[in-house]
Amino acid sequence: MLTDSHTHLYLKEFDNDLHTVIKNAQDHKVSRFLLPNINTKTLPKLLSVCQKYKNTCFPMIGLHPCSVTENYVAELKKLYSQINQENFIAIGEVGIDLYWEKKYISEQKAAFTTQLNWANDHQLPIIIHSRNSFDEIYSIIKREKRKHTAGIFHCFSGTYDEAKKIIDMGFFLGIGGILTFKNTKIADVIEKIGLQHLVLETDSPYLAPHPMRGKRNEPKFLSLIADKLSKIKNVSMEEIYQTTNTNIQTIFSKLK
Ligand SMILES: [Zn+2]
Repeated sequence: MLTDSHTHLYLKEFDNDLHTVIKNAQDHKVSRFLLPNINTKTLPKLLSVCQKYKNTCFPMIGLHPCSVTENYVAELKKLYSQINQENFIAIGEVGIDLYWEKKYISEQKAAFTTQLNWANDHQLPIIIHSRNSFDEIYSIIKREKRKHTAGIFHCFSGTYDEAKKIIDMGFFLGIGGILTFKNTKIADVIEKIGLQHLVLETDSPYLAPHPMRGKRNEPKFLSLIADKLSKIKNVSMEEIYQTTNTNIQTIFSKLK
């Protein structure tokens, strides 16, 4: 049994065939789906999917850095008002993205700081989106994180030095389709990182692994990522399944 630790099954890309997508994933041994939120508009749909697929799909709450604009304080307030309404398993996905847009950098930093403190206060893991922003995120975590707080750097594609820093803070690395791409440097980094620090994710519908690259991604392709990981680490698929599942249970106490 595998867990897709990061999938957006509530987005419109899955409107027509969500049931089949889940069934196909289960046929490929992927049986649990963790759903990171994007903003106030996506939350109702995310929750209705989790309601429909109870104990299969699990909700997170958070404001994605690409949804942070001048009205972010009101957005955060609306989201926070819901935090005790549902059994959210994590704060996510949150962070800083300086790839598309640098205009709201101070707002992004403030929104990330606020949501890191939600994780601190509610003793929830935090799922981090970091793009061209490792140093900014690292310094905020160093400053604000409490001892018990941990989580995942989702879709990790950084350097060995960054991976070491993440692990030293007690965080895990989310490994997705990028690992399977040709000419990726990330395989050399992951080769040197212990399996006990890794979890698997698709980030579907985005970032489909090779040889599906460019197509709609879906959780059943998690096995392609697991397969590549088993080759890089030179361990059996069984060991990949077991260790990443243990890691998921360590991170998400509410899944027990
Ligand atoms: Zn995502």
